[in-house]
Amino acid sequence: MSFDLSGRSALVTGSTRGLGLAMARALAEAGARVVVNGRSEEAATEVAASIDGAVAAAFDVTDESAVAAGVAALGAVDVLVNNAGIGLRKPILGFSLEEWKRVVDTNLTSAFLVSRAAAPGMIERGSGKIVNICSVTSELARETTAPYAAAKGGLKMLTRAMCAEWARHGIQANAIAPGYFDTDLTQALTADAAFDAWLRARVPAGRWGVPADLAGAVVFFASSASDYVNGQILYVDGGLTAVV
Ligand code: NDP
Repeated sequence: MSFDLSGRSALVTGSTRGLGLAMARALAEAGARVVVNGRSEEAATEVAASIDGAVAAAFDVTDESAVAAGVAALGAVDVLVNNAGIGLRKPILGFSLEEWKRVVDTNLTSAFLVSRAAAPGMIERGSGKIVNICSVTSELARETTAPYAAAKGGLKMLTRAMCAEWARHGIQANAIAPGYFDTDLTQALTADAAFDAWLRARVPAGRWGVPADLAGAVVFFASSASDYVNGQILYVDGGLTAVV
């Protein structure tokens, strides 16, 4: 069963809600022992209790020492999904340095920190799966998204750099790039009638993504079905990046 994740442990950062939660559920349904993460201990514990066999590990993915301690406490991590992320929409000239750093730290540097903590164990075991959650903004810019798009573009290249260094150790590092999904992160956009109409007209599928739309892609990248797939970015975007 090449999509079977029985016996594998899977850490999904930022899985207390939204896309991370849907991917955690999908990995658990495929047999993985899931680790639920977020900054809130209470939310992580509550969500973990709702998923078969899951445990909670609350830590801030931008905090170097918290990441090191949090990952070390888990033992083997066979699958790592670097999903935690935030958005802040403003024109470039309106961003403070602190805001810029917060967005880049959460969406890009976090993947470096968590992977740096988890990869040595994968290298030792000669196998591992890393799935970075990119975005259509890894490829396409839009006004008010500068630090977010810069971070997601960087995450695309970090995915390829991980492939370059770790493929020989039996690790596959790939990325999922979601289009526009209805979550807390996009609340301001789903509530904006003009944006909603633009999106439905722009996306070939004619609708917003729903978190469960990522289930197949994450199970594929986490499982042995993708053992010879490495450094790839899979756009799960209803066709948005395929058409003008
Ligand atoms: P949500 O805001 O719904 O969820 C974000 C999750 O990340 C929460 O669990 C949050 O928990 C956690 N989180 C945020 N900051 C940190 C941190 N510093 N440390 C640990 N956990 C953190 O967002 P989405 O589910 O929409 O987004 C998930 C990922 O998908 C992000 O990387 C986003 O950029 C990406 N994405 C989303 C798209 C969309 O349309 N929704 C499109 C393309 C990409 P808490 O706040 O309690 O810490």
